Amino acid sequence: MVLSIPSTGTAEALWALDHGSLTYDAGLVVLGGSGVSEHPITSFLIKHERGLVLFDTGLDPAAADRQVEEYGELASAFDMRFSAENRIDRQIEKAGFSTKDVTHVVVSHAHFDHTGGLKLFPHARLYMGLADLRFVFWPDGGAAGSCRWPDIEATRGYRWNPVVGDYDLFGDGSIVMLSLPGHTPGNAGLLVQLPGETIILTGDTVHLRANIEWTMPMGGDHNTSDATNSIRRLQQLRDSFDAKVWIAHDPEDWIDFGGAGRYGA
Ligand SMILES: [Zn+2]
Repeated sequence: MVLSIPSTGTAEALWALDHGSLTYDAGLVVLGGSGVSEHPITSFLIKHERGLVLFDTGLDPAAADRQVEEYGELASAFDMRFSAENRIDRQIEKAGFSTKDVTHVVVSHAHFDHTGGLKLFPHARLYMGLADLRFVFWPDGGAAGSCRWPDIEATRGYRWNPVVGDYDLFGDGSIVMLSLPGHTPGNAGLLVQLPGETIILTGDTVHLRANIEWTMPMGGDHNTSDATNSIRRLQQLRDSFDAKVWIAHDPEDWIDFGGAGRYGA
């Protein structure tokens, strides 16, 4: 299924937020890939007349400049770079808002580089695929590998909205959570209609352009078959909406889309 939601509205603007980087070999995130490089950790802020939407939250603000103390082996294995300037609250301030202005937080999936700032949004509505939320709140034995338990456990009493399938945030087709399972069971992307163009934010459905160009998932996905189908769905959505696809961890996309700050400014 591509998407049958009517598109009648647009969001006003989109900002990319810079949460530092992880360095790893492309072979880790695309079967057949090779070459070590630095991959950005990105989240996005989207302004809509009915609210301010955050897509993903980067790393734990408490880990700024003390990555190894907070993340241990993850920080050293991936040469984690994360300064105070990269904290989610600082990045939101740079865009001209405060964390309190954020009304909706959509989380692509439950892995550590997307959930770190969640605890700063007790006032917002939080959205995550049901299959990922149960994965961390009520995990099967050994299932929650790359999830950082304290990030999400701290939000257990927050206004969580588990999502099944696609979810149109404002009912106007402007910001639509896309069900793209495989990397994790409840992995999601976000389709954003801006004035004059459509952008699809991938979350970790793919990590590099090669994943889409080769229709090739990563070896460490939760379910490789589902992940491959989600890459196909991404291709179909891209073609159907004539959309640009912004891959959150792709260093080339980071440069080509203009990096941190207001997109298109
Ligand atoms: Zn990630």
